[in-house]
Amino acid sequence: MTNPIEIKKLTVAYDKTAVLKDIQFSVPKGSLTAIIGPNGAGKSTLIKAILGLIPKVSGDIKIYGKPYRAKDRLVGYVPQRGSVDWDFPTSALDVVLMGRYGHIGWFKRPGKEDMALAKESLKKVGMDAYANRQISQLSGGQQQRVFLARALVQDAQVYFMDEPFVGVDAATEKAIIQLLTDLKDQGKTVIVVHHDLQTVEEYFDHCILLNKEVIASGVTEEVFTLEQLHQTYGGKLAFLDKGKVMVEQTR
Ligand code: ADP
Repeated sequence: MTNPIEIKKLTVAYDKTAVLKDIQFSVPKGSLTAIIGPNGAGKSTLIKAILGLIPKVSGDIKIYGKPYRAKDRLVGYVPQRGSVDWDFPTSALDVVLMGRYGHIGWFKRPGKEDMALAKESLKKVGMDAYANRQISQLSGGQQQRVFLARALVQDAQVYFMDEPFVGVDAATEKAIIQLLTDLKDQGKTVIVVHHDLQTVEEYFDHCILLNKEVIASGVTEEVFTLEQLHQTYGGKLAFLDKGKVMVEQTR
């Protein structure tokens, strides 16, 4: 069976500096995969390269065996909250409806069914009461939920999420992980840039350890080891009691 994501010998550069070198991994269908690595490791760049948002220098990226353009409707993307202009005057419902454009076509108006799906999706993330609220007037956690609703309404097969837990409260984090687990249970594939090492084993069944190169990728029990975390983070790992590790982040 063709894997949802198959990356071979991928190199990506900004100007002439390579930030991702010789990246190779595959992601199996129905997995919840974390991309883990220190700041500047190239995690966001990797997602953007897979989505064709930045060009690659060389290598091969396949979504269900085809280039991204041929499969873009199968892919949902939740960008980093900080990378979005939240002052843009639009309502939560409009943001979610944007997720339907791939189905509707950009020049048509959303129909009743699209509207119903968007509302249902807002409900799933507990945001139905905020449908008409301007996105600038939502809290960080609420904005993240709206983004998630937009991805859900797309009805994709593969979801990429860039740090969905940053700046959200514990209740939202729980709601998000529950949604991701539901997607996985439906056979969808979810790839998440994640920086909280404490929750990796609890949340994710697969991991990719990244620091400009892939240090390891595969099943969490095999990949998420102290030795490989050391290789990924260098001296930035800090140890807590009961063998827990965390990273001294400069954010
Ligand atoms: P991460 O998501 O792991 O923190 P990024 O993918 O954001 O890492 O960045 C990887 C490297 O590429 C960093 O050294 C960063 O400074 C650099 N970089 C990211 N975006 C750009 C850009 N638009 N132009 C030039 N360099 C960039």
